[in-house]
Formats: sequence, C-alpha cells, structure tokens
Amino acid sequence: MSHYEKAWQDVLRRIDTAERAAGRAPGSVRLLAVSKTFPAEAVRAVHALGQRAFGENYVQEAAAKRAALADLPGVEWRMIGPLQSNKTALAAAVFDWVESVDRLKIAQRLAAQRPEGMPALCVCIEVNVSGEATKGGVPPAEAPALAAAIAALPRVRLRGVMGIPAPTPDVRQQRAQFRALRECFDALRATGLPLDTLSMGMSADLEAAIAEGATQVRVGTAIFGERQ
Ligand SMILES: *Cc1c(COP(=O)(O)O)cnc(C)c1O
Repeated sequence: MSHYEKAWQDVLRRIDTAERAAGRAPGSVRLLAVSKTFPAEAVRAVHALGQRAFGENYVQEAAAKRAALADLPGVEWRMIGPLQSNKTALAAAVFDWVESVDRLKIAQRLAAQRPEGMPALCVCIEVNVSGEATKGGVPPAEAPALAAAIAALPRVRLRGVMGIPAPTPDVRQQRAQFRALRECFDALRATGLPLDTLSMGMSADLEAAIAEGATQVRVGTAIFGERQ
C-alpha cells in the first residue's frame, strides 16, 4: 500500500466513524482533498485511489495542475483560499467551485467572467464566526444579504457555506464554532435558498465538524503530509 493510500483510507475511516457517532448516514460527508503546495503527481496518485474533489488556495497553482492533469477523468477543482479581484477571470475558467466568496464584487466578477460553454460555477459564501480580523469571510449577520444577492446572479450557483474557525485543541470550542456555522447555513436555507453544502472541518477537527453537520470536510495534511 502506498503512503497516500494508507493516509487516504485512514481519513475515510475517520469520516465514517464520525458519521456513525453522530447518527448520520454513512457517505453523507464528502471529502475534499486539499492539494495546495503539493505537485500534480501527488494529485494524480490520490486520484488513482478514487478521490475526485481537490482543493487549492492559489489560482495560478491550480491552473498549472489542471493543465498538467487534463487527462484525468472526473477531477473537480475547488478554490478554498482568499480570492482577489484581479484573479477572478482565471479562477472562473479553472475552478468548478469557489468556496471562498465573501464579497458581492467577487461573485459578480465570477458570474461575468465564467466562460461560455462551461456549466454554472458553484460557489459558497465564506462565513467568519471567530471574528478574527485577519481571516476572510463575512460575519454571520451579513450572510443573508450576500446570499440573496449572489443567488440572483447568472452563471453562478450558490451551494452553501464554508468556514475556517480559529484552530483550537478544545473540542467544546471547536463544536461551538462549527455550530455557529451550521446555524448560519440553516438560517440561509430557511429563507428558501436551495443550499446543500456546509464545508467545514480540516485534518485536526473533522470529527467535531461532522458532529455539527458538515456535508464536506477539507483535508490536506492528513492525506498529503505536512506542507513546507
Ligand atoms: C489548507 C486548508 C485546509 C486543509 O488544512 P489541513 O489542516 O492541512 O487539513 C482546509 N481548508 C482551507 C481553507 C485551507 O486553506
């Protein structure tokens, strides 16, 4: 068994165990493999195991990997890092999803720049529940207005909420932050938006995220190893 195979299987097992512990249906949580900083050949190896969705933080890096891996069937590229407006045109052509939308201007640019002939770009609103000024994301109170405005745009399809809570080893604090994200997600759904994605939880805290309702966890280190 390759290093990647063992690591990937271990993560799938952690997800399965957490789903069961939370009384959730097996297979209800998707795994996004976060391949940022790792070479295209690492993505190829993990794709060969059956993984299809990969997360990237830098637009140019993702564009290069997408081009290098154009022969791979079924790969889904997802942007999860901060997106500047001068990168939206390339992002709109490279990604299947942008999970880190936290300003209407970015969503408007993605909508205008999504190439003809590609399906609508799936997007999530990044919500900041920890109040850290250095992090992206809208405060939960501003999410409904942003969601309504994005839902009205052409060429993008609003799918849900993404969050990156402040890291903490305290499971109760992890759960409280994930719960706040889920409450934000539920509040948006209660307005009638057809959202299906709550993207939260990483290598260190995916169990707490799944216990609080994550539909997708984003895992880098536990699959690919430590980043330089
Ligand atoms: C890097 C990154 C991850 C993966 O984090 P790990 O701790 O390596 O699992 C998840 N989400 C976002 C937004 C990231 O930037």
